[in-house]
Amino acid sequence: ITELKNTLENEVHELSLHYQPKLDLKQGKVTQVEALIRWTNSRLGFVSPEDFIAVAEQAGFIENITKWVINQAITDAAKFNQSAVNVSVAINLSAKDIMNPTILPNILDLLASHQLPTTSLSFELTEGDLVKDHDKAIVHLQAFRDAGFELAIDDFGTGYSSMAYLQNLPVNTLKIDKSFVLKLHERDGDQKIVKTVINLAQSFEMNVVAEGIENIESLALLAKWGCEYAQGYFICKPTPADNLITWYNENLTTKWL
Ligand code: C2E
Ligand code: CA
Ligand code: CA
Repeated sequence: ITELKNTLENEVHELSLHYQPKLDLKQGKVTQVEALIRWTNSRLGFVSPEDFIAVAEQAGFIENITKWVINQAITDAAKFNQSAVNVSVAINLSAKDIMNPTILPNILDLLASHQLPTTSLSFELTEGDLVKDHDKAIVHLQAFRDAGFELAIDDFGTGYSSMAYLQNLPVNTLKIDKSFVLKLHERDGDQKIVKTVINLAQSFEMNVVAEGIENIESLALLAKWGCEYAQGYFICKPTPADNLITWYNENLTTKWL
């Protein structure tokens, strides 16, 4: 907590964003990237976001991290745009962020100052976060949708969502958790779950993203079942913005299947 606060308050340059492509399986090309935060501290070394995001949430300063992420992601989105890298950037938000009334106006101001449309960003939220204060969350999420942003439920399948709750949420994408995808090619049970989630999403007229694809067999299954987007090490690992630009240009004509 002390090191992280120091990093944020004193603008020590220890944070960075990596980007991981999402492949549009229908178009056969990358149309989105997810921003994933990285922290390398002088004393602690590399600390996983799985660990420090939870710490920041509990210690009550996730807001400061999110602010940094949004700033950096929009700066990079402008850079991608100028480099003819036609991708929108997905940002991970936590529950507290959604309930923060200043976050949406801030995002809109920043986009305007870079002359970027709202379609250049989207947001991912975990379902556990959204269940806590459901009615209030819906109002805030609707404001994001009204502004033109796409919203995804992250880690889908690991939380508590009831069908009633899913029906009322103003989100347009389900992101299947990687725990169901990593061994998809060899696990019958995972195949049943993933197929069912894809059908569920289609009934609700939502898109589906599968994360954690590590081999071509799993990618082929997902394409066959009509999954819209695919993300995973098999396609590309999270990588710094400059590398992402190079990777994008090298893979413009790649046939993924
Ligand atoms: P997430 O949003 O579910 O992100 C997916 C995680 O899976 C990422 O871990 C990514 O690097 C990893 N991954 C992607 N493809 C594969 C694959 O093929 N195989 C395997 N084994 N892993 C894969 P990462 O970057 O360590 O992030 C962990 C979590 O930290 C994220 O899970 C997200 O919940 C959180 N996080 C990361 N960046 C941010 C951020 O800027 N803000 C917030 N609030 N949370 C963040
Ligand atoms: Ca995510
Ligand atoms: Ca996940």
